[in-house]
Amino acid sequence: GPRLSARGLVKQFGATTALAGVDLDVAAGESVAVMGPSGSGKSTLLHCLAGILVPDAGTVALSGRGLHDLDERERSLVRRRQYGFVFQFGQLLAELPAIENVALAPMLLGTPRREATELAGRWLASLGLAGMEGRRPGELSGGQAQRVAVARALITGPEVVFADEPTGALDQATGQDVMRVLTETTRLAGASLVVVTHDAGVAAWCGRRVEVRDGRVVADERRAPEVAR
Ligand code: ADP
Ligand code: ADP
Repeated sequence: GPRLSARGLVKQFGATTALAGVDLDVAAGESVAVMGPSGSGKSTLLHCLAGILVPDAGTVALSGRGLHDLDERERSLVRRRQYGFVFQFGQLLAELPAIENVALAPMLLGTPRREATELAGRWLASLGLAGMEGRRPGELSGGQAQRVAVARALITGPEVVFADEPTGALDQATGQDVMRVLTETTRLAGASLVVVTHDAGVAAWCGRRVEVRDGRVVADERRAPEVAR
């Protein structure tokens, strides 16, 4: 079965219908860009898939296990163990050096500090950040900070990585570079990737593009991603 499966997702905010019945399956290893104009429901969809937001109706299942059957504590464990998150700029802990930002993710799952720090160092090096381990987020460029965020999202071996406008604060060239790193690293790790973006240049890095309008999926197309061209 699919790694991630959403059926009939509905979410209201007062009189606003953010999601009006969304079905979406994401296969293991697949990369999906969720596109659409501002206010179309992209972030709400991502937050429901990620178990951050509980839909009013419908179900989300991760590898066949329904998130709605879990309480908030169990959903939080799923987010830490089975999901990785890359958000727009500013998500790293500003007081901590890069290596501690990355090591914190496995430490929260019980990995001893020393082992987590060694693993974090290997992740930073593999993402081209050798020598930057001791820098705080404010001492890194925007692109370097997003590479740290990618390392933090992948270090725990997630089944799905969620990215919400991961290049939103970056210039075009740096954004393309971050997308290359994000899609390559996710693919090599065998994780699925769901990226919310309004930028077609970002979506081009994904093998599938889903278009959302007024809380519904209006288009769903597969195309060879940028990496394969
Ligand atoms: P997108 O990510 O495509 O910009 P969102 O999912 O953020 O769209 O929002 C979809 C709709 O739901 C919009 O009309 C937005 O204003 C509304 N909405 C989203 N979150 C909230 C909230 N917490 N409270 C009230 N309305 C919200
Ligand atoms: P926005 O979509 O408004 O820019 P974010 O994408 O930064 O906001 O965060 C959206 C939601 O995701 C918030 O409720 C936030 O608490 C939650 N969140 C942010 N980072 C993480 C994370 N690493 N793990 C779980 N939830 C997160």
